[in-house]
Amino acid sequence: MKSSTDLRELLERIDRRSYPAYKDTRGAYQFDSYVLSIDHVQGDPFAAASKVSVHIQGSRAKFPKELYDTRQKRVALQDELLRRFHRSVEEFSFRAKGSGKSGLMAVSRPGQEILERSACQMEEADGSIILRMEVGFPANGRTINSRELIKIFFDFLPGCVKKTLFYQSLDKEKLKKVAELAEDQQYIREQLKERGLAAFVANGAYLPRESGVSKRPMKGAVKFLSPKSLEVTMDLPNHGSLAGMGIKKGVTLIVGGGYHGKSTLLKAIELGVYNHIAGDGREYVITDDTAMKIRAEDGRSISGVDISMFINHLPNGKDTVSFSTEDASGSTSQAANVVEGMEAGARVFLIDEDTSATNFMIRDELMQRVVHRESEPITPFVERIRQLYEKFGISTILVAGSSGSYFHEADCILQMENYEPKDITEFAKEEAKKFPPVKEDAPECELPQFLRRPAGIKSKDKRDDRVKIKTTGCDTISLNKDNIDMRYVEQLADTEQMMTLGYLLNYGKNHYFGGKYTLSAVVDKLCEVMEKEGLSKICEGSYLPAGLAMVRKQEIYACINRCRSMQFR
Ligand code: ADP
Ligand code: MG
Repeated sequence: MKSSTDLRELLERIDRRSYPAYKDTRGAYQFDSYVLSIDHVQGDPFAAASKVSVHIQGSRAKFPKELYDTRQKRVALQDELLRRFHRSVEEFSFRAKGSGKSGLMAVSRPGQEILERSACQMEEADGSIILRMEVGFPANGRTINSRELIKIFFDFLPGCVKKTLFYQSLDKEKLKKVAELAEDQQYIREQLKERGLAAFVANGAYLPRESGVSKRPMKGAVKFLSPKSLEVTMDLPNHGSLAGMGIKKGVTLIVGGGYHGKSTLLKAIELGVYNHIAGDGREYVITDDTAMKIRAEDGRSISGVDISMFINHLPNGKDTVSFSTEDASGSTSQAANVVEGMEAGARVFLIDEDTSATNFMIRDELMQRVVHRESEPITPFVERIRQLYEKFGISTILVAGSSGSYFHEADCILQMENYEPKDITEFAKEEAKKFPPVKEDAPECELPQFLRRPAGIKSKDKRDDRVKIKTTGCDTISLNKDNIDMRYVEQLADTEQMMTLGYLLNYGKNHYFGGKYTLSAVVDKLCEVMEKEGLSKICEGSYLPAGLAMVRKQEIYACINRCRSMQFR
């Protein structure tokens, strides 16, 4: 392997040459305690920055095995190292000068959720570390200024690496806490299954966020406190016993006046499919990790979905057993979201009436008397909510402040009052008896058959050789100019997950979308590649971008289902 001295000499040699001479730096160089690998060199100082990775052997990084001997602990440790490295690198970004992106030093910046990321990966066998980042190779105009790059590679970067990626230079107590939290969170996740719970919200949790744009905890928020009747106690492996609200499987209704914290509670439960960092306030809010938020999504495309359990006999005679549209209404979009959620293996649906189509959710008594079932294509969700649980094992946690129709169907009714949940099940059930539902029981329904087979992406962009994957925040993924609207897939926590979805879609297109496999087989295969062989595998040939984050199976379904150019057979 070439040495760092070789790199320095090469850089000195190409100073003031024209920019493409930087291409010669590609390769791996042995520094004293790590290997610096230059994986991709940008074409000019204004292009996307160069990709660089730092490789440290386990025997040098020296992290004790007990910090990474389970998947959860390893992911948490990677996340912690990345956060520290990010903070350290941030200080040096653009300290080296030049045109365009010259001097940029950037690495993924994790948010409140702890996700497996390509930016920092630790080998489970021996604790070796790979850190991936971007560096803007400096130039003045298009003339190489390699003295500035020498500062980055021989001064700034070594400092950051030594300070943050070796066990001996880190706060050992802090790292131990990270591993312990991961273990406790995993314990609660396993307990959910054992105790038949859909979610757990710890007493003392802080649920609201600072603002619409900041995901940090709100200062001075009211702490969460479970009603006694729903309290369960978790005997955490590391932090003693922790009491909190156990939401049982079945149908749970969250009611209460406007502004009393209903949506905030649901939002926290939605993101409880991920683990959160210490200090977030939601570190002990843990939800069944198959849970899916279901909402109305007018305008989305739907392709061959069987929504007949909710919508039937449309006036134009349109088929709802295999329903397709380029522009769904509120109710058809929400129906498709439910059925696709069943296909995606969700065991819990999370619904907020704020973002639901009213005519999909309920039909009130008077309306039922006036407009008969025969002339109404929609079987509202409230009439299916029990069947979903009893026949298909799918629980629902539903926020509803405006209609009493749900009372009859719910197993548990919570009222949020000044941000505190009260168990009003008995009282509400008693009251509901005075208002017996007029509905005849909804006709039985069967589990839809999930037979769709992805048969290829009909791309607008004909050149198939070059793949272009781009994302706009958590809103849009574009694969070769096909845009996929992900705005309303609310459990995506991070733009890097969007990037991963883009690569997965491309991988699926190259390997599995031939019409041979059903959608669920395709998604299972994609998950297997991603989880067993790592995020690097899905990038196929191209160097691994610094910024990919692991996604759930449910979001892969959501992405494929929203891809307008996907053809199903
Ligand atoms: P609802 O859905 O019941 O109308 P929201 O959940 O939207 O209410 O909450 C209303 C407001 O109260 C939001 O601005 C939210 O940030 C704030 N809030 C929610 N929970 C708390 C809490 N525990 N402490 C302080 N403020 C809160
Ligand atoms: Mg609300």
